Amino acid sequence: MDHYLILDIGGTKTTAAVFSGNGEPVKDLFPVLPSKTYEGCDAVFANTVEAGRRVLKESGVDIKDIRGIGVAAPGPLDHEKGVIINVPLMGWKDFPLGQKLEKEFGVPVKLDNDGNLGALAEQRLGVAKGAGSVVYMTVSTGCGGGIVLNGEVYRGFSGSAGELGHITIDMNGIPCNCGSNGCLELYASGTAMNTRMRRDIDKGVRSLAFEEIGYDKEKVSGKILGRAAEAGDQYALSFLREEGRYLGVGLANYFNLLDPEVFVLGGGITHLRKWFYDEMMRTIERCTVSPVSPDRIRFSELNDKVVVYGAYCLIKEALNA
Ligand SMILES: [Zn+2]
Repeated sequence: MDHYLILDIGGTKTTAAVFSGNGEPVKDLFPVLPSKTYEGCDAVFANTVEAGRRVLKESGVDIKDIRGIGVAAPGPLDHEKGVIINVPLMGWKDFPLGQKLEKEFGVPVKLDNDGNLGALAEQRLGVAKGAGSVVYMTVSTGCGGGIVLNGEVYRGFSGSAGELGHITIDMNGIPCNCGSNGCLELYASGTAMNTRMRRDIDKGVRSLAFEEIGYDKEKVSGKILGRAAEAGDQYALSFLREEGRYLGVGLANYFNLLDPEVFVLGGGITHLRKWFYDEMMRTIERCTVSPVSPDRIRFSELNDKVVVYGAYCLIKEALNA
């Protein structure tokens, strides 16, 4: 039978699914296990296998009916060889994840990183379906993404293309773990927004957003900003306009470099688009060399399932090639 096992190994949780060949998850099951991060390479691997076995059992699909396994794994990784190059939080260094899963389940395995799989899913099945060139970015804890050119994931010369969060938007800006300064994700990500809110609480800024949480710095989130903006709070509104400017500068860079047919924005940030959209579009208009029509910028509808759908496309296409 034409079924595929999907494993999405994230920093905090591992999601599993079984897809039928028509592109839908069987019984809409997405069991989730904590990823056993920092418990060592074997524990993380055993946990991944357990997630796979659990979803097979729950969906009632026998391993004999599984044609292959699609995996979303943290990078850097070698997608051809199925090797995880170095992910300290998993304890994985030159870890042959693909080979080990093939041995465990007895079927072919393909793996890739979240960003590439997100871009693939949006281009194959999502809001950018059928577009020749797509740039996809998710803005949540960080800013990650991927690129599809001429219908194929573009990985670059050494496999590291699509580091969308690490384009510099301020050369003299905040130092980044990557070694550079002023990377987009240090300004536009959810983590960055939370850091700015904490700083503003320290500075004594008054806002409905902060009143809701009793000015407790541990409780800042995008949600409090959204609610305050809805109530017309000036701080929240101006904060989210600033977010729109950061995103706009980032997107303008991608449009100037690649001129993609469609750009897809995903992640938690999209819930706040009502308040950053206009400023983002104004910034894109100002910073791009050629005009970008609004219908080329779309918001993900696959959202938190996008990577799982991408891993399905990856393994299905690899086996049908
Ligand atoms: Zn960086």
